[in-house]
Amino acid sequence: MLSGKIEEKINTPIPTFKETYAISAQDALLTGKFKQTTYDESQGFSKDAYWHKLSFPKVTTPNAEKSIYLGLNYYVIEHLDFYLFHGSQLQAQWKRGALENWQGGTPHYEGIWIPILLSDHDDTTLLIRKQGNSPLLTPFKLFDNKRAETKKEQKLIFWTFIISSLAILLAHNVFVFILLRQPGFIYYLGLNIVIFIALSVVTGFNRWIFSEEVSQWIIKNLFVIFGIGAWILFRFSLRFLKEVQIPSPESLIRKYGDSIFITFLIFTQLLSVKNVAFLFAAIEIFMFLICTYWGIKAYVKGFIAVRFYLFSWFFLIIGSILNTLIFWKILPINFITESILPVFSILQLLGFSFAFADKAKQFERNRKLQALTDSPTGLPNRTYYFSKLPALVAEMAKNPPQLALIMIDISNYQTLCQAFGPAKADSAISEVIQNIQRQLINMEGILSFPLPNKNSYKVIRITATNIILISTKPEQIKQQILHIQEILDAPTLVNKIHFRHQYKIGSALYPSQGLDLDKLYQNALIANHSVSYSSGSWVAFTDNLKSNHAHQLGLITQLTNDIEHEKLYFHIQPQVKLVDRSIIGGEVLIRWHNEHLGQVSPAEFIPLAEQTGLIYKLTDMLFEKVFHWTSEHPKALSLQSLSINISALDLLQEGFAKRVIDQLQTYHLAASKFTIEITETSIFQNNDIVHDNVKQLHQAGFRLAIDDFGVGYSSMQNLVALETDELKIDQFFVMNLLNDSQSQTLCRNMIDLCKALNIVSVAEGIESEEILQLLKQWQCQVGQGYHLYKPMSPTDYLTLLDEKVPPLSAPTNRA
Ligand code: C2E
Ligand code: MG
Ligand code: MG
Repeated sequence: MLSGKIEEKINTPIPTFKETYAISAQDALLTGKFKQTTYDESQGFSKDAYWHKLSFPKVTTPNAEKSIYLGLNYYVIEHLDFYLFHGSQLQAQWKRGALENWQGGTPHYEGIWIPILLSDHDDTTLLIRKQGNSPLLTPFKLFDNKRAETKKEQKLIFWTFIISSLAILLAHNVFVFILLRQPGFIYYLGLNIVIFIALSVVTGFNRWIFSEEVSQWIIKNLFVIFGIGAWILFRFSLRFLKEVQIPSPESLIRKYGDSIFITFLIFTQLLSVKNVAFLFAAIEIFMFLICTYWGIKAYVKGFIAVRFYLFSWFFLIIGSILNTLIFWKILPINFITESILPVFSILQLLGFSFAFADKAKQFERNRKLQALTDSPTGLPNRTYYFSKLPALVAEMAKNPPQLALIMIDISNYQTLCQAFGPAKADSAISEVIQNIQRQLINMEGILSFPLPNKNSYKVIRITATNIILISTKPEQIKQQILHIQEILDAPTLVNKIHFRHQYKIGSALYPSQGLDLDKLYQNALIANHSVSYSSGSWVAFTDNLKSNHAHQLGLITQLTNDIEHEKLYFHIQPQVKLVDRSIIGGEVLIRWHNEHLGQVSPAEFIPLAEQTGLIYKLTDMLFEKVFHWTSEHPKALSLQSLSINISALDLLQEGFAKRVIDQLQTYHLAASKFTIEITETSIFQNNDIVHDNVKQLHQAGFRLAIDDFGVGYSSMQNLVALETDELKIDQFFVMNLLNDSQSQTLCRNMIDLCKALNIVSVAEGIESEEILQLLKQWQCQVGQGYHLYKPMSPTDYLTLLDEKVPPLSAPTNRA
């Protein structure tokens, strides 16, 4: 047992004196300058030194303990030497840096335990010399052997726990984060290192790691280390929150944050330690406030990983505040307060590593979500349809439920793309799809598709232009589709033009028309494709469609092959001047006879060629054939002219006009002998490519006609924009002329319009004399139809010209 007297020693002020010139330990022992006065305490290194004296009376009781321990606190950042005297005889000394003595031969860190062997003949004195500008700052305690042993053990366990936790955490994080390639990881690692260095010097285990000089430098520049730590944390925060755009890339803190820390580091070299400590506290509070603010903002934005980040900040700031209080001696140094720094450091590092792990998890969730969604719209995608939908359908109450798959295809993507470029076309299509989603979100009877992010949608986007809805009330499909059509028919604004999308809707029933989603999809797709050959915009699947579809596929294969081998040919349908029925020329009409399919109508294969892009080759081939034929039979053009049909897609192709003009020139033909017929569409307005092509064709001398005027998309603007020379009134009006007054009115108006604009009027589909007479009466200029002449082979056309047009007659003009 330690005698009460000895224990009291630590509670009374220790006799101290200030050394003004260097003296030896012996001189210090003999000096009478020791006084029990207290000095102002400050921290720092100086040439000054202070001597402290602890005296113990000789041990007289026979069985009394002869050795005790002086236990220093962990906050040893002072330069201390110890000298043990029995009487005036120096027994042992331990100097700062003399590690082998401090360790007392054991491999453990025991630097703070100074053994005092008490004498039984003499008084025992321990002199402590502190090199510094103040007396002892660190409290110490005296322990008997047994208590010292338990204390040592406790501290050893505590430090083993702290250091191994730190090491395990660090190793784990290094491994995980290198694997995950987390941004900001380097900063996280830097933070760990700085905390490790700071802990080592504050608690004293730096002696094991750094040389005496390095330790001294670190202790002197502790706030430089803290400042670097704070800067690393700042950078770490920027990287960690980067994905949620917090702080915003233009914010001042992002631009000038680094300079705050540089300024602080400069100040550490200029100001006193206390002032620097004060400045550092200010920076720490500022960082705490701003990072907490960012963290909360990011959390609100749905960045869940930030919760552990905030947790870390809490411990970091509380730990710092408590440490500052200890530093300023507002809090006492005891086991609890001295544990705050290491424990909070671990908690804080732990928090950051959880934040990383959380972020990695969120990445993984996002990756999974990305795999299931379409990126521009966030709607479920094709993978969702095939991987998630089957489970969703299987879960439905009625099993199997009665469903209908509605497939919508926005069919004007290609034209949009050619007219406005792919970027605008993409966004126009995304816009219309999102509009459908918005308008259907509250509609009952349409299945909702939940995503892992808890959002749910009514639309699955299969491809850029193709979407799917699932009706849970197939009996109401008519009304549902009507509603969808209304949404789709509303014009949208593309490039400042009110644009009406073209679309196709196909539907198929589950389970009767597809037992699994794969089959259902296939059948809805067939129905969807069949819209091209039907009058409306919606086709419901039937078994017949399936064979039709197979037929179309065959058609495309054959057509590709026959275009390749130039097996298509043309007929000519004569056109006459209505006043005297003289032949003024003819319309070239393409014909296709396939060895397997027989004769196929252009009305059937031209739309297919347009859909598959074969149309460009087809048009080129036709021009080539017509120019070649006319160059060999100049008679066909001597008094008459020829009209050639092109597709709207041709005019939307850059360089189309130039190609035609070049072809024409190789045959030395006059462009004025040809009229090019175009069926108009809405994309012609304000389109630069169309405008360029039209301009070049006109300049070369070609005439332009608008075909099928009055049906589909007709606009007065086009008549002007295309600088039309001729207007062909659609057969529909001409055929119904006798029994439909509306057709009569429209027909007459179109003829009048032509007169007013000085455009040639052509009536197609004249099937009877009555109609012809009526048109003649209304002063329609040109006519074409079965009643006059049917389309015929070029040879027949030449023979007809020979018969009908006497060689010496005057040239016939269209107008
Ligand atoms: P279109 O340009 O309006 O051609 C007139 C169509 O009406 C031709 O059908 C012609 O045979 C038919 N027709 C002429 N007179 C009468 C009549 O009195 N009664 C009836 N019921 N029909 C008559 P065809 O040859 O089957 O061509 C259909 C459409 O295919 C054409 O309509 C045109 O849009 C397109 N087409 C034909 N040849 C070509 C071509 O070489 N290139 C392109 N891009 N399209 C072509
Ligand atoms: Mg035509
Ligand atoms: Mg026509």
